[in-house]
Amino acid sequence: MLQYKPVTVERLICTCDRCGKAMDQEADLMEWQERFVISFRAGFGSVFGDGNSVEGDFCQDCIQTVLGKYLRVRLDDPFEPKHKLTSEPQKLLQPNQQKKVEEGERMQEELLGIIKGTDERVANIRKLANRLDIPQGQVADVAIDHMLQATQHLKKADEASEAQS
Ligand SMILES: [Zn+2]
Repeated sequence: MLQYKPVTVERLICTCDRCGKAMDQEADLMEWQERFVISFRAGFGSVFGDGNSVEGDFCQDCIQTVLGKYLRVRLDDPFEPKHKLTSEPQKLLQPNQQKKVEEGERMQEELLGIIKGTDERVANIRKLANRLDIPQGQVADVAIDHMLQATQHLKKADEASEAQS
């Protein structure tokens, strides 16, 4: 039997702090994109109080109503702009997105280092293989043997850990 079952769906909505308009990210992407978000920490001597956090979300209609007469709106084409903005946006990513990008770049760099053989670990393995005149694949086994011999005097710790397990 086929039936319709009601489900509860949660959607991200931004509410204008001035007029209360709900801007739905999914249902009204245009309003969502044009919303105006204020989020900063007040600096020394700020009218908002030294070091205080200041945040507000506003719909485009409220921005036009409150600030419209002070804004310099010029006819332009985003694909062939004639007017350069005085201050281009510098942070296009949210902090969590920025973190992911940086993590990805770091991993990519590490992988490239391993592939090219410029990674420090790869270079050390190559150096040891040359010094000991053994294949690079045996370096780990030989290193473990040497480490065991070098730490022979700590044998008591082995017995203690074996007794525990
Ligand atoms: Zn509003």
